[in-house]
Amino acid sequence: MPDLPAFPLSEEHKMIRDAARDFAEKEIAPIAAEFDESGEFPHNTIKKMGGMGFMGIEIPEQYGGAGMDSLAYVLALEEICKADASHGVIMSVNNSLYCHGIMKFGTEEQKQKFVTPIASGQAIGAYSLTEPQSGSDAGTMQSRARREGDSYVLNGRKSWVTSGPVADYFVVFMMTDPDRRQNGISAFLVPGNTPGLIRGKKEPKLGIRASATSELIFENCRVPAENLLGKEGEGFKFAMTILDAGRIGIATQALGIAEAAYEASRQYAVQREAFGQPIGQFQGTGFKYSLEASMAKLFASETAMYVTHQAVQIHGGMGYSKELPLERYFRDAKITEIYEGTSEIQRLVISRSELGLK
Ligand SMILES: Cc1cc2nc3c(=O)[nH]c(=O)nc-3n(C[C@H](O)[C@H](O)[C@H](O)COP(=O)(O)OP(=O)(O)OC[C@H]3O[C@@H](n4cnc5c(N)ncnc54)[C@H](O)[C@@H]3O)c2cc1C
Repeated sequence: MPDLPAFPLSEEHKMIRDAARDFAEKEIAPIAAEFDESGEFPHNTIKKMGGMGFMGIEIPEQYGGAGMDSLAYVLALEEICKADASHGVIMSVNNSLYCHGIMKFGTEEQKQKFVTPIASGQAIGAYSLTEPQSGSDAGTMQSRARREGDSYVLNGRKSWVTSGPVADYFVVFMMTDPDRRQNGISAFLVPGNTPGLIRGKKEPKLGIRASATSELIFENCRVPAENLLGKEGEGFKFAMTILDAGRIGIATQALGIAEAAYEASRQYAVQREAFGQPIGQFQGTGFKYSLEASMAKLFASETAMYVTHQAVQIHGGMGYSKELPLERYFRDAKITEIYEGTSEIQRLVISRSELGLK
C-alpha cells in the first residue's frame, strides 16, 4: 500500500518501522511457511525480536523495555504481521495483554519482578481469561481462588491461552467471590513453574499455527498474596481495560495481513496474463478509548478478511496452493474476527457507546 501515513512520522518512528521491516523481511518471511506447516513455536526469531526491544516497546527502559510510544508499537507490529501473523500475535500478547496490564495496575515490586524479564525479551508472557464454558461472557467463569494465610490457592481450567505452552509468566483471572459474579473476579501474576500449574494440550488451529495455544489447569496452585494484581474484585475491570489495548494490537495484526495480501495481489495482477493481457486489466480484478479500540479492531479485521479472500481469488489456483503465502494470509486473517472480543462483541461495545449505555 502507498507509504503515506496520515501524519508525519518522527525519525525515531521511521527507524523502528524500518528496523522491524528489515528484520521481518530477512528473518521471518523466509521461515513463516515452514513454521505454519509444522506448528512449531519460533523460539529463535522471537528471542531476536526481544533483543531488538520489540517485546516491550512501550515499557520504560528501567523495566527492560524500549521506552517508546504506542505509534512505535503499532508501526513495528504491522511490519512483523506483514511477514507472519503468528510472530505478530506473540508480540502483541507480550506487549499489550501482559506488560501493559502490569504497568497500569501493578505495584513497583510487581513491575520489576514480572515486567522486566518479559519486556527485555528474556521470557514470554501470557494472559489467561477464557475458560471452556466462558468466553465472551467472562462473568460466568468457574475458576476459583481462595485466600489461605499469606497465599492464594488457585483451582480451575483455563482455555485458549496464547503462548500457553511456552510462557514463563501469566496474568490469570479467577473468581475470589462467586456471588458477586464479574465483580468477584481477581487477577493474579503466576510464574509458569509454580507447582499445581499444569499446561494442557496444545490446540491444533486453522491459522496463526506457529503461535502456541493451550489450556492451563490449576490444581491447588499456590501463589503468594503479593501476586494479587490490584485488589480483590478488580479483575474484571482490569481484564477489559487490558483488552482495549490488546484490540489495537489485533487491529494492527489484521492490517499487516491485509497489506501483505494486497501487495502480493497487486504485483500478481500486473504480471499474470490470460487471454493475451495482464489479469489486472479485466474488469472486476482491478479508552472512551474502548470505542475507538473496538472500531479499529472491527474495521481492520473485516477488511483483512475481505482483502485476503479477494487476494486468494486474484491468484486463482495459485492462491489456493501452499507454494504461495496467500492461503496462509487467508487462514490467519480469520482469527482477528474472533479473539480479544468477537466482531459481534465489538458491535455491542460500539452500539452501547453510541447509545450512551454502559
Ligand atoms: C487462537 C486463539 C487464541 C486465543 N488467545 C487467548 C488468550 O491469549 N487469552 C484468553 O483469555 N483468551 C484467548 N482466546 C479466547 C478468545 O478471546 C475467545 O475465543 C473469544 O473471546 C470468544 O469466546 P468463545 O470462543 O467462548 O465464543 P462464545 O463467547 O461462546 O461466542 C460464540 C458466538 O456467540 C456470539 N456471541 C456471544 N455473546 C454475544 C452477544 N452478547 N451478542 C452477540 N453475539 C454474541 C459470539 O460473537 C460468537 O459468534 C483465544 C482464542 C483463539 C481461537
